[in-house]
Amino acid sequence: MGQGDPGLSLALSPLLQPLRFATRAGVSRLTGLEALVAKVVEQARAYASEASAARLERLAQSVHGFDESSEADRQRAIAALVRELGALLPIPAEISALARSVSGGSGKLPAVPVQATAPKAPADPLSTPVIHLRGVGPAIAEKLEAKGLRTVGDLLLNLPRKYEDRRTPRTVAQAPVGERSVIAGRILKAQEAHGRRRRLEVLVRDAAGGTLVCIWFHYRPSLLQRFRPPAQVLVSGEVREGYRGGGKVMHHPDVELLEAEGDPSAPRDDDSFGRVVPVYTDVEGLPQRTFRRIEKRAVDEYVGFVDDVLPAPVRRRRRLLALPDALREAHFPDKFAPELARGALDGEPRRRLAFEELFLVQLGLALRRRGVKVEPGIAFRGLPDAVDRIVSSLPWALTGAQQRALADIAADMRKPEPMNRLLQGDVGSGKTAVALCAARIAVEDGYQAALMAPTEILAEQHARSLRMLLRGAPVHVELVSGSLSQREREHAARLLRSGVAQIVVGTHALAEEATGFHKLGLAIIDEQHRFGVLTRANLMSKGHRPDVLVMTATPIPRTLALTLYGDLDASVLDELPPGRTPIATKVYRDSAREKAYDVVRRELKAGRQTYVVLPLVEESEKLADLKAATQERDRLAMDVFPGVSLGLVHGRQSAAERNEEMERFRRGETKILVATTVIEVGVDVPNATVMLIEHAERFGLSQLHQLRGRVGRGAAKSHCLLLTGTSGAEWGPAARKRLQVMEETTDGFRIAEADLEVRGPGELLGTKQSGIDFAVAKLARDQTILNEAREEAFALVEEDPEMRRPENAAVREQLLHRWRGRLSLARVG
Ligand code: ADP
Ligand code: MG
Repeated sequence: MGQGDPGLSLALSPLLQPLRFATRAGVSRLTGLEALVAKVVEQARAYASEASAARLERLAQSVHGFDESSEADRQRAIAALVRELGALLPIPAEISALARSVSGGSGKLPAVPVQATAPKAPADPLSTPVIHLRGVGPAIAEKLEAKGLRTVGDLLLNLPRKYEDRRTPRTVAQAPVGERSVIAGRILKAQEAHGRRRRLEVLVRDAAGGTLVCIWFHYRPSLLQRFRPPAQVLVSGEVREGYRGGGKVMHHPDVELLEAEGDPSAPRDDDSFGRVVPVYTDVEGLPQRTFRRIEKRAVDEYVGFVDDVLPAPVRRRRRLLALPDALREAHFPDKFAPELARGALDGEPRRRLAFEELFLVQLGLALRRRGVKVEPGIAFRGLPDAVDRIVSSLPWALTGAQQRALADIAADMRKPEPMNRLLQGDVGSGKTAVALCAARIAVEDGYQAALMAPTEILAEQHARSLRMLLRGAPVHVELVSGSLSQREREHAARLLRSGVAQIVVGTHALAEEATGFHKLGLAIIDEQHRFGVLTRANLMSKGHRPDVLVMTATPIPRTLALTLYGDLDASVLDELPPGRTPIATKVYRDSAREKAYDVVRRELKAGRQTYVVLPLVEESEKLADLKAATQERDRLAMDVFPGVSLGLVHGRQSAAERNEEMERFRRGETKILVATTVIEVGVDVPNATVMLIEHAERFGLSQLHQLRGRVGRGAAKSHCLLLTGTSGAEWGPAARKRLQVMEETTDGFRIAEADLEVRGPGELLGTKQSGIDFAVAKLARDQTILNEAREEAFALVEEDPEMRRPENAAVREQLLHRWRGRLSLARVG
């Protein structure tokens, strides 16, 4: 027992001290244990796996009410605590004895039953399955579930797509063609017509004598029976010009019979008229009206069970609706009807809901940030003249942005609290040089620095760049690579452990169990969002609370950065090093591909090189990928660029094979490199001036931007050629418009903003489960709300770090339980 995860062990280790104390002084002398355990567990959650999460909760439970307990109960509580702890980290024998002293000890105390499962949370009415709603049978339930609407809670969070104002009926004459209107009148005639298409026609006359024909092409025969003249009706739909020049018509309108089926006293059966009506995203096979009725039931019967977790002071300060009111108004607007009728989708009810989502995530980040900062780390000297010396040894002067970033970093490193900083900068903005300077500050004080990259290729590129930038300065850079032989690897391991290796570059292998450092002082993590939280925690645990610098080349819009890295301080490299030539970007239709090839030929003739990138495929399709890549290489070699030497890199190659291909391209032996997106990050070949991308419409804009950044690294003018596929479905006007952004700008942030709008944050980062796709909030739109939520969340943690105040109890609970899954994912930083 008791191996566990190093990050978790580290986070839980503060519990050992009081337990050791208890072995000497006895359990009666311990005070404040419950609070301590709560705090430690709070911080440890970020490192917990699925399996250990349940244990953590039990750990927290085990000392519930400890301070008020009798000595016997305390003994039992401690025993339970030690047992749970022992499963999560190695504990000294003297402490594990505390677990035995109860059952085997005096004999007077009863043995403690070991809780097999975490305490059950009370049943939540909001998790009632939809089928329990009146009017929802198995058939409808199935349709709802197909849309992800499983519970009543799902229905409550499924907000309308828009609203329709059905408060004031118009006459037929008043209703403009091409607009939706509500019209009141009497049925004059209802009949089936058998023209080219069978249809049901209902003639309605309004009070002013105008007539309207309502037409159904799909209907049940029983519908004819319902529309008996001269029933009073309200119809709602888009008014169109009738054919043969005759009057106005509506296709498939919503209809309400005001005297339902001959019984004038029958209640009006839904909320589809006489109000501002919600319009939901279509559920396959369910008419809007039926779906609306189901939503109405869910709201009427369950909105009362919704707890408002936002602390009252926050709600007051930000003038937010109570949660049940917000939900009721968002679905069936009453007080806010005028506002929402105008099409104000961002009205108050939604603001309230988006605020809560964003607030909870920010609260998680604020807690996490505090967790990092409360305990001391390393205070590096970072003497000004040492920093100056390091900077002036570089081959060129730093850009202004690099200087500012380095000043931020050096200031952080001098402080005794651990650095937790994000260095954000577009491709080619010079993050590596900044990272090197930071590493050398650590090395000056006898510490090691580690740089962890997401791929082998990038790790190698980093090692090469660092050595180049060091220009023979006496700093040992060691590369830990998967392509090392067993002997080389052992040698590298020795250099790491002895401290000879001062700067260590590698992949996630650096964070693995087997890797040990002598004295790790700075952990630099490149392309952070590709690593799991645990990987980062593991790397950190190799040192004693090392400083952390996270680098990302993905230009992340501010809103997203605040959500994803909101617990980090940020420095931005918003300036490119001098001497870059702009990259000319052009989108080509498939039919114009020869023109694109002409550009390639011209550049080849001038002695330059070209990348040809094929779309990345799913892991499961890697074989097909290999085939496609090989075929394309052969096609280019035979039909398009005869006599030109081509290389090929793809996902099925071993690291060694891939490196060899890359190396050949770098040396200029191959002129064209055909690749799947494995080259997305990390290659730096200044002589390559063309980036040709096939099926560009399948890539995200940010991904295209990353790829484009692979050229334009030398002084010569570079080209990015975006070829689009032939298939019409993928290549509509929307796709063309999206790609045009690439032609218009090379500003990574603008591109990312555009991407965020089109694709949503999860996809933008290439991972669906980033915990940042919200039900209500839209990051691209809700910047103001995000800022407010963030201010409140950070202020709350500042004032009440353990969230013990009564007004914060509900939100604390929410954070710990309902949102935990999502939060832990959002805590990437
Ligand atoms: P990033 O990692 O941000 O994509 P790099 O660190 O790889 O960018 O830098 C891109 C290129 O710019 C490298 O070839 C690097 O040597 C060069 N470079 C970095 N900083 C400067 C500078 N201040 N002046 C001139 N060239 C620089
Ligand atoms: Mg780089």
